[in-house]
Amino acid sequence: MNYKVGDVLISEEDIVGKVKELGEIISGDYAGEDLVVVGILRGAAIFMSDLVRSIDERVNVSMDFMSVSSYGASTSSSGVVRINKDLDNVIKDKHVLIVEDIVDTGLTLSYLKRVLLERDPRSLALCSLLDKKERRVADISVDYVGFDIPDLFVVGYGLDCAERWRNLRSIYSVETISQD
Ligand code: 5GP
Repeated sequence: MNYKVGDVLISEEDIVGKVKELGEIISGDYAGEDLVVVGILRGAAIFMSDLVRSIDERVNVSMDFMSVSSYGASTSSSGVVRINKDLDNVIKDKHVLIVEDIVDTGLTLSYLKRVLLERDPRSLALCSLLDKKERRVADISVDYVGFDIPDLFVVGYGLDCAERWRNLRSIYSVETISQD
């Protein structure tokens, strides 16, 4: 399959505004606390780096990362998740915020939530830049959501299509240009 970048779905300007807004809410919610922000590689790396900089000095932020992959088809999640890279630090008794790029079926986040809850964090919350609610399979609620989007495959701002287009500053739909 050959793909090309389609229309802008969410502009750079709207992303910047939303990340600032999320940072302000999270700063208020965790004021005076230590917070471990856990980015899910690789898609959430760019969102996470902007998000942590929009959380103000009231919160003592640390960063950790996990990398997961789902078995099965490339653009749909099978719900079976493999941890390729685990956290570097112990999260017992810590406030933890998982940061994802997009929640689709919700199977990845619900698996991660289950795994991290077994480690006895003080609290565990979920933040995703994008949410495709109509595709949800797992019963999971996301505490901080940037934008609800329709059932489209999107790229940019960290999201890829076969590793391309993560560097784009806005979020775009993807179009198929040929089958080969
Ligand atoms: P879920 O387990 O919620 O179905 O899948 C979440 C993961 O699927 C995301 O972290 C992301 O890697 C991938 N994904 C789902 N929808 C999209 C999309 O529209 N674009 C891109 N680039 N990845 C997506």
